[in-house]
Amino acid sequence: MEIKCEWCGGNANSGENTVYWELPDGSRAIEITMTPAVICLDCDMVYQTDNTIKEIEDQLFLVDNKKIDSSITFKELMELPRMLKRNYFDFSS
Ligand SMILES: [Zn+2]
Repeated sequence: MEIKCEWCGGNANSGENTVYWELPDGSRAIEITMTPAVICLDCDMVYQTDNTIKEIEDQLFLVDNKKIDSSITFKELMELPRMLKRNYFDFSS
């Protein structure tokens, strides 16, 4: 799939890379491998789309961070069960 680079407007491909992410409580950073990424063929920028960033942040917020090792694949992270002690998305009550 060909996409446009957000930085230089050049041709970019979708791929994956390793990212380092700080946990929501700030206690430590984890390595997330095989994370969907945009890889620009023109300026060599490798970055995550806003959508992917949101997916990671939402997931880290909702899963038990103690279950996450120092390194995890994106797929494993997304498959971790979410804790639904509180419904974070119900703003009506
Ligand atoms: Zn670029």
